[in-house]
Amino acid sequence: MSSDPNCIFCKILRGEIGAVKLHEDADTLSFMDVMPQSPGHCLVIPKRHAANIHEISADEAAILIRATHRLAQAVKLALQPDGIGVYQFNGGAAGQTVFHIHFHVIPRTSGQDLALHARNMVDPASLQPIAAKITAALQS
Ligand code: AMP
Ligand code: ZN
Repeated sequence: MSSDPNCIFCKILRGEIGAVKLHEDADTLSFMDVMPQSPGHCLVIPKRHAANIHEISADEAAILIRATHRLAQAVKLALQPDGIGVYQFNGGAAGQTVFHIHFHVIPRTSGQDLALHARNMVDPASLQPIAAKITAALQS
């Protein structure tokens, strides 16, 4: 499984930095975004390092979207938001800031502004209760 020594998401995959994990399988990992745009903001990544959509195969894309679909269903069940945004950016010009492909799953509340970039880092411990709800929904 290829890994990039300097990539922050590869560091999470290697266990070098922490993350509040939601689900892991042979090919993907999902975890809480540490600078959430709204409560419950989470990410899905492939275990193989690839910068963007142009660096993965169609089969890898299918695996990623399956995992994203499953996570979005769990977030809906767990948190009952008014809506859920599923986003994926390729290249800095498109808004990508971490160059290891990922899908965002972001619960939205009616009336909340739709700014698409990270805000402030939160205490990872504060993500645990919401992660527990999503994890439970993933298992149901
Ligand atoms: P993008 O702008 O699409 O590249 O999004 C990158 C996302 O990764 C942002 O929402 C960041 O808040 C998030 N992020 C960056 N570092 C970490 C980290 N160490 N743990 C969890 N999420 C992170
Ligand atoms: Zn990486």
